[in-house]
Amino acid sequence: MNEVLYNLFSISNDPKHLALGKLFDRDWFVDPLSRNEDILSGLHSNTHLVLVNGFAQRFQITKEPKYQDATVHFWDMLMNDHAYANGSSSGPRPNATTPTSLKAEHWGDPGHLNTFTKEIAESCVSHNTQKLTSTLLSWTGEAKYAESYMNTFYNAVLAAQNHRTGHVVYHLPLGSPRKKIFLKEDDFRCCNGSSIDAYAALNAGIYYHNDTALFVNLFVPSEVNWDDKGMVLQQTGNFLTNKTVEYHISSKKESIFSINTLIPSWVDRVTVYINGQKKTQNISPNILVFYVENGNNTTQKLNLNMGSAYKT
Ligand SMILES: [Zn+2]
Repeated sequence: MNEVLYNLFSISNDPKHLALGKLFDRDWFVDPLSRNEDILSGLHSNTHLVLVNGFAQRFQITKEPKYQDATVHFWDMLMNDHAYANGSSSGPRPNATTPTSLKAEHWGDPGHLNTFTKEIAESCVSHNTQKLTSTLLSWTGEAKYAESYMNTFYNAVLAAQNHRTGHVVYHLPLGSPRKKIFLKEDDFRCCNGSSIDAYAALNAGIYYHNDTALFVNLFVPSEVNWDDKGMVLQQTGNFLTNKTVEYHISSKKESIFSINTLIPSWVDRVTVYINGQKKTQNISPNILVFYVENGNNTTQKLNLNMGSAYKT
């Protein structure tokens, strides 16, 4: 609700909407987070995750540093100490008080792997984590957010939908043996609603930009128009089954901009060709930067050798 009301305020500029949004920002939650104290254990995941999306919106409106600090710290503690490898979280509550919290929907103790019940990694949590990660990526441009977004995109968001029927799962089972249980058409849950939002926004996280650079954060065949620069970038490839990604860039007017591409940390080696010429490029932490000048038509081909990486 706080996020919705802050979004409403940004349209209406009506102080009532701002004041109402603030009622949902509870000090007991935001204050420890702003001090980087992990109080997530035992909380209902999706109830509290969405509050943090609201904290981010509040910071964007009021510039109160406490809400920025809480947002940044929360993301780090969530992804480092509470999330599964696929970027989602939620599972049994450490001290269960209800039948639901015995097996689902809560955060566990930091650094402790939840029991892999059938009801973990709720789809709403995956989607709302993506919203938060996207916000932090837009604030910082840091590769760690882009990499996390890509990971959750493939392993939690896309994984939650049946590509033949469009049905979605409430929980994404990660243990073994497990199978996905898709929601029926007459069984409308919170995750149906989140999934409508998530799948309508599949293309929202592919490209970002600032005044001078376009950021390519997902390897998804697509086309983006950047009106201010008069440029069009067409991305082709079939990432995950083919290691080659190509960008075809054309520009209608003279301009200088850079194309910043995420190179995930699990890529062993990158070979780059610009207009057919093999190039040596510096990779500074996980972001590969190209400069494009004066509207040249340019084709950039990336060969991404996929390796494996271990994380703790
Ligand atoms: Zn849900």
